[in-house]
Amino acid sequence: DSRIHDIKNRIRVVPNFPKPGIMFQDITTLLLDHKAFKNTIDLFIERYKGKNISVVAGIEARGFIFGPPIALAIGAKFIPMRKPRKLPGEVISEEYVLEYGTDCLEMHVGAVEPNERALVVDDLIATGGTLCAAIRLLERVGAEVVECACVIELPELKGRERLNGKPLYILVESY
Ligand code: 5GP
Repeated sequence: DSRIHDIKNRIRVVPNFPKPGIMFQDITTLLLDHKAFKNTIDLFIERYKGKNISVVAGIEARGFIFGPPIALAIGAKFIPMRKPRKLPGEVISEEYVLEYGTDCLEMHVGAVEPNERALVVDDLIATGGTLCAAIRLLERVGAEVVECACVIELPELKGRERLNGKPLYILVESY
């Protein structure tokens, strides 16, 4: 698919950001190109329309860029999965392990009903810890996680193996 090739070319790799040794995959350059950004969203819509998905859960912050246009196009609601103390209502939380220390994702109680079919969206999967926490939040409220979708995978970090068997769909691999 030539669209995938074009998307990959629009992602800027920034060495040593945010710290030495990290090759940061910057999707803001993809957003600058209308055609590549639209193709990114269209590829996800083609995969998920007609799949009876009623919830798109986007992970702060870049899941908030890709999640909502997918949700609107497939007729699903959008829910934000946020860093701690950002959501004003009653929340449930899941901690996950980082390279140094832990982080946490929160979701509003009541945003998702039991047995809803959910898609989790983020820009990138590295170790998989973030997506794993998102899956746990949705499953705790009884939702069925149909798939996780990211623009970029860093396959060497084997994040896929942390998703408890949930399918992962990605557009671009980066080594
Ligand atoms: P994981 O939990 O899979 O180790 O890390 C994934 C999370 O970190 C995602 O929310 C993603 O946005 C962020 N992240 C980690 N590395 C990068 C990167 O190189 N580029 C971007 N855009 N996000 C990253």
